[in-house]
Amino acid sequence: MIFGSFTVQEVVFGQFRLDGGCMFGSVPRNLWSKRIEPDEENCIPLVARSLWITRGDRRILVDCGMGELWAEPQRRIFGIRNVPEADWELDPGSVTDLILTHLHFDHAGGLVRRTPSGDLQPIFPNARIHLQRAQWDQARNPTLKDRASYLPETVRFLSTARDLTLHEGDVEVLPGLHLHRVDGHTRGQQWVEIRGGAEALFFPTDVVPTAHHVPLAYHLGYDLCAETLLREKAWVCFQHDVYTALARIGMSEQGQFVAEPLGAG
Ligand SMILES: [Zn+2]
Repeated sequence: MIFGSFTVQEVVFGQFRLDGGCMFGSVPRNLWSKRIEPDEENCIPLVARSLWITRGDRRILVDCGMGELWAEPQRRIFGIRNVPEADWELDPGSVTDLILTHLHFDHAGGLVRRTPSGDLQPIFPNARIHLQRAQWDQARNPTLKDRASYLPETVRFLSTARDLTLHEGDVEVLPGLHLHRVDGHTRGQQWVEIRGGAEALFFPTDVVPTAHHVPLAYHLGYDLCAETLLREKAWVCFQHDVYTALARIGMSEQGQFVAEPLGAG
């Protein structure tokens, strides 16, 4: 899609799965399982979808998937099926900017690979990395509740990374490319807004991870963001949804926010 002078594509780094109960919080299983059927271990299918934004000589990637740092038991538990690097539609060396919405493993696990000698090697060696300072602090000092969401390799690598830019709150990285800090999912998450011409694209990351999380009851702390999305009629690209990459936010007759997938009008 074209937004003014930006060209925006989706890049799917792989598929995985997470427990449906964890994905839907306080919503009972007999409600969420009508929307998306869990497998025999109560997990729902997810994808690791990134945005690939180009303008002029800037090549900007938003998040980089699960990566390959996983042992076999973890691969099975999370059902990780990554797209091999040889099949990526982008050249990792050409990425000039890597925006990390936050450092949870399904968003930043693909930052580094381990060499045969055990060293960590950047997969995007020429990229300036954009992160919120509050998320960097959180990842280095996680709580008991969220420490399993961070890979130690991610933190170790970023501790010595030369091109790490730590933002403090909302920032316009390029004219029309905005990062917005939110704290509901984790401290210092940033979602992405691309504005050009008459339309805008919002990439809400884990604030609204799938189209099923659009109704207010399906995500705590979502309401203000949804109101903004509705008012501005923006496109929303869902980062973890297997079936719906792109949708507009609408209102059902019952007064609930709903996702109207691309092609639905
Ligand atoms: Zn997350």
